[in-house]
Amino acid sequence: MGSSDIHPRNQAAKNSIVRTVNQVRQATEPVYLRKIFRLKQVRQLTPEAYVLRFDRNEINFRAGQHITLGIPGNNQVREYSIYSTEQDASLEVLIKEVDSGLVSRQLRKLIPGELLEVDGPFGYFTIAAQDLQRKFLFVGTGTGIAPFRSMAGSYPALDFSVLHGVRYATESYERHHFPHDRYTLCTSRDDQGNFRGRVTDYLKQKSLDFDTLVYLCGNCDMIYDVYDLLTSRGFPSGNIKTEVYF
Ligand SMILES: Cc1cc2nc3c(=O)[nH]c(=O)nc-3n(C[C@H](O)[C@H](O)[C@H](O)COP(=O)(O)OP(=O)(O)OC[C@H]3O[C@@H](n4cnc5c(N)ncnc54)[C@H](O)[C@@H]3O)c2cc1C
Repeated sequence: MGSSDIHPRNQAAKNSIVRTVNQVRQATEPVYLRKIFRLKQVRQLTPEAYVLRFDRNEINFRAGQHITLGIPGNNQVREYSIYSTEQDASLEVLIKEVDSGLVSRQLRKLIPGELLEVDGPFGYFTIAAQDLQRKFLFVGTGTGIAPFRSMAGSYPALDFSVLHGVRYATESYERHHFPHDRYTLCTSRDDQGNFRGRVTDYLKQKSLDFDTLVYLCGNCDMIYDVYDLLTSRGFPSGNIKTEVYF
């Protein structure tokens, strides 16, 4: 979805349609069209979250886009935002293993040297060249921080601040990728972040410049809540861009 006045609920529906189409396509495409990459490194960040690194091969992407990943032959793929920057020689994704999830658990078991099925890049959760001089507010929950790490690293002169919502401060992942004064960690279940509470609680206390471009990424509840909070205060819906993970 581009910056638009479409409510993010409609994007969630669109994502599920895209996934269904992808699954049909995966089931009918001949195997030789799929890209098989070799895993180079696994970085375990918390007991559940890990970063997979592999060669870029011919994948050229714009910060904010995602790829699909799966185990070759398993016929199941999922979308993952690209975590690394446009300039990095390798490609990285940040994944949280979901309890009773299928692919996030399969990927977690991979060890360096094993193979991955990769496709993409896909998506429009990106920054248009003409907007690079504008001011940004990035709001992500959990691994929804991934596209913002890519944007911040890809565009070092970007004027942004990032709000990261997690349960515990240990889930701040690799926050050192963000300048200290641009990153605010909102923790809902401990006092070890910069703010105790949800990102919506934080935003309720803040005034917002209506020229800011707001990017929201992560679970749909956060996205709906922040979208409704901002638009109810008169913030232009056309300045809000969303990426719904689940
Ligand atoms: C555009 C896009 C980008 C995405 N980027 C990332 C990313 O960078 N990193 C990442 O970890 N995930 C990302 N996701 C989510 C990812 O595609 C999978 O949905 C997730 O890994 C679960 O897949 P699974 O096969 O393990 O679980 P499934 O077997 O598909 O689903 C199990 C259940 O878990 C729920 N679920 C999905 N994700 C989560 C979650 N994070 N926490 C709790 N419950 C969840 C699902 O709604 C479902 O009910 C992205 C999704 C989209 C649409």
